[in-house]
Amino acid sequence: MTAAARAALVTGGASGIGRATVARLVAEGWQVVLADLNAENGERTAAELGADVRFVRADVSEEADVAGAVGACVAEFGRIDCVVNNAGVGGAFGALTDIAVADWDYTFAVLVRSVFLGIKHGARAMQAAGRGGSIVNTASVAAFSGGAGPQAYSAAKAAVLNLGRVAAAELAGDRIRVNTVCPGLIVTPLIGPDLETARAVMRQAQPWPDLGTPEDVAEVIAFLAGDAARFVTGEEITVDGGLRAAGPRMH
Ligand code: NAD
Repeated sequence: MTAAARAALVTGGASGIGRATVARLVAEGWQVVLADLNAENGERTAAELGADVRFVRADVSEEADVAGAVGACVAEFGRIDCVVNNAGVGGAFGALTDIAVADWDYTFAVLVRSVFLGIKHGARAMQAAGRGGSIVNTASVAAFSGGAGPQAYSAAKAAVLNLGRVAAAELAGDRIRVNTVCPGLIVTPLIGPDLETARAVMRQAQPWPDLGTPEDVAEVIAFLAGDAARFVTGEEITVDGGLRAAGPRMH
């Protein structure tokens, strides 16, 4: 790998969409810091994905951890060209009339504060280097409607969408692009082991007849991360088998 290779930080890279994204970027010649709360999975994934991957344990809701992960990318690879703010959890489940404030705050800390911190510290490092860069955030189709995900999760993912637009407007002058992917039903540990439930939802709401894979989403993230998307910023792309486009089934 030459010193001019591009370097990325991928949060939540130990599993699912994040792991597939790390693999996709490495295949394109990127060097990657994989940040995750789960040290066991993170260490193993980094070892499996090769010499251009480093694992850093980080809680994305903690500012010092996110700043540290950005710093680790610059220290390891001499640069940071992309941050993929992808780590996530289902968060608080249940009715708004029942959710405890602590559970609501936890959901927003892991899903929204994390993206703010990745933008804040990633963009600072990119501004200091003066080469521009790219930030890709993972939201969800749940961001667009009231019924496509748990209540707190859906509200948090909607915040991620507009955070991406706000950041795109702020950072364009530094040639830093900010975009958002919105996955639909993707087979990862996040949707749980019961794929029959996911398939039942799919049959009812999604036109495309298969569940999505982490690789389907990673492909779009890699496009947004790289120079092929040089004029794309402030945008969101759904990767959902037509779920959002179809809307409610009336026939
Ligand atoms: P996953 O559970 O396979 O992976 C999530 C990773 O994030 C895990 O490795 C986990 O350890 C890590 N993580 C959780 N909390 C963290 C924290 N505080 N700090 C650092 N790391 C943390 O899930 P996935 O499906 O790959 O989810 C990735 C992203 O895609 C999430 O933002 C999720 O909301 C979003 N998403 C997933 C789906 C889907 O159907 N799977 C749909 C829409 C959006």
